[in-house]
Formats: sequence, structure tokens, C-alpha cells
Amino acid sequence: NAAAALHHAKHEGRNNFQYYAGQMNASAWRRLKLETELRRALEREEFVLHYQPKADLQSGKVVGMEALLRWQSADRGLVAPGEFISVLEETGMILPVGEWVLRTACKQACLWQAAGFPDIHIAVNLSAMQFRQPDFASLVLGIMRESGLEPALGVIELELTETVLMHNSAGTLDTLRKLHEAGMRLSIDDFGTGYSSLSYLKRFPINSLKIDQSFVQDLPVNPDDEAIVAAIIALGRSLGLGLIAEGVETEEQLARLRRMGCNQMQGYLFSRPVPAAEMTYLLQNGGGLDLPLEG
Ligand code: C2E
Ligand code: MG
Ligand code: MG
Ligand code: MG
Repeated sequence: NAAAALHHAKHEGRNNFQYYAGQMNASAWRRLKLETELRRALEREEFVLHYQPKADLQSGKVVGMEALLRWQSADRGLVAPGEFISVLEETGMILPVGEWVLRTACKQACLWQAAGFPDIHIAVNLSAMQFRQPDFASLVLGIMRESGLEPALGVIELELTETVLMHNSAGTLDTLRKLHEAGMRLSIDDFGTGYSSLSYLKRFPINSLKIDQSFVQDLPVNPDDEAIVAAIIALGRSLGLGLIAEGVETEEQLARLRRMGCNQMQGYLFSRPVPAAEMTYLLQNGGGLDLPLEG
């Protein structure tokens, strides 16, 4: 505990104590610096979305994509969300940034529709905090309509985590119902990793489950993972839900998932997340993206 550590540090000598304190200050300082830079990032328009295609396992075709946030920092280069999402959440900055993500995905969807890809759909990740805003459904539907997208056409899909559903409040249920009634598709991200009670699958209007990449990673060699993935697929099928495997990196994983009856996949085997311009190129040359079909 802290008191014992302090006692220990004192007895080790003054220099050592300063060493510990110095370490703490350095990490607190780094964190404060990151927070300050992130506050400026939104004004300076340093956030960007990359897009990762989702492929259908039967046809091998692109059926949609997921928008993934990146921060293009002058000092740090291109920063992945793992480095900063938690700071955005702890400071509440995820609310304006999350809104920016949704608006940007809507604009991009309109651009791609105008460019001759009427069927594309983009999935957007949402944090639990966004769901706790009063009247979040109206905010989402408002942004979509301002962008000229009818929510029921399924152009924008929402990915939520089990954490959202865990806060099993009347507000969450109401928000999800409103979005669902407006025709929006909802999926559960990282399925199987949260503290989930399966009963929420009955209570909430969910369309699909994204099987977390931690179960996919060791698929052909780890019988436990294989059993878990098979169980999730069986559960999803019997509830009439779509199933997407995340983080597919090898042909062996792909073959196994296909045999197990998974519908869709996302992963480096097919494509990494890419900037919008590169996605446009991939859409125009859709054939080049085809998955190896079973033969
Ligand atoms: P996620 O939503 O589960 O997204 C999937 C993550 O797995 C992405 O990481 C993606 O780049 C990575 N990935 C995809 N295929 C593979 C693969 O084959 N192998 C491996 N090892 N990884 C793969 P990324 O882009 O770093 O995002 C991490 C997480 O940050 C996301 O996980 C999501 O929870 C969060 N995130 C990203 N964008 C947003 C956003 O706009 N809003 C919110 N609230 N969260 C976001
Ligand atoms: Mg996601
Ligand atoms: Mg995921
Ligand atoms: Mg994840």
C-alpha cells in the first residue's frame, strides 16, 4: 500500500524517494500534455477517419466498412485510438469528437453514394458515455438527416460495446429503441469480452454480433477458442443475428470461420483500415479485394 511504499522509500534514502516521485510526475505530465494536445486537435481538424472493409464470407465481396478514428498529429504522427480514446472518455471530449466522427462518416457516405456506390454502409463506433447523453437518439437521427441520409436505408450502422448495455437504464433502452424504430442497424462490438448477461440480447434490439478478435486469433490451434466461437455463432444464429468475425489474419482462420457458419469478416487478411481516398480506389476496383473462395 501507499503508506508502506512511502515508508520503504524513505528508508531507502532521500534520492530513492525522489526517484519514485519523479516517475509519477513524468507520467502525470505526459498525460496532461496529451490532454492539452487533444483539446487542440479537434479545432485544428487533426482527427481523421480510416475505413476497414467488411467482407461477406460466401460471396467474398465487400459489404460494408467500419470507420476508425485516427489522430494526425504534427508532432506524434498518425496516432491510433488505443493511445487516446481513454483520455477522450475521461475528459468528456469523446462527446464532441464522437459527434464529429458521425458527421464525417455521414458526409463520406454521401460522397461515395454520389460517386456511384449506392449500397455502401459505414459502421461507426460509439462510447458508453455518448449513450448517457439525454436524447442521444435525436442527436444521431438529426445528424443523419442534416447530412441527407435517411436512417432507415441502413447507410450508417452503430457499433456499441457491452458496457453500453450493462448500464441497463431506462434511458439506454429508450435510446436503442428509438434508433431501431428509425431503422438503424445496431451491432455489439468485441462480443464476449464484456461482463455481459445474455439476457440483454433479448431486451435490446440488436442486429448483429462482432466476435472479438481475441477469440479469432488462435482459432485453428486453440480448442477453447474454437468452442467459444462456435457457441457465439450458434447463439447468434438461433436469435437471428448477423455474425462478423473481427481480426481475421490467416487463411486458416478464414476457412474455419466459413465452415462454422460465420457470415462476415473483417481483418488484415482482407485489408487494413485505409484512408478514404484509398477506400474509394478499393471500391472502384472491387475485384481486387476478392477473398479467396473455398475451392
Ligand atoms: P474496434 O471497434 O473493435 O475495432 C477493431 C480494431 O481492430 C481496430 O483497431 C482495427 O484496426 C483492428 N483490426 C482490424 N483487423 C485486424 C486484424 O486482422 N488484426 C489485428 N491485430 N487488429 C485488427 P483500432 O483502429 O486501433 O481501434 C481500436 C479501438 O478503438 C476500436 O476497436 C474501438 O473500440 C475504438 N475506436 C476506434 N474508432 C473509434 C471512434 O470513432 N469512436 C469510439 N468511441 N471508439 C473508437
Ligand atoms: Mg468497432
Ligand atoms: Mg471490436
Ligand atoms: Mg476492440
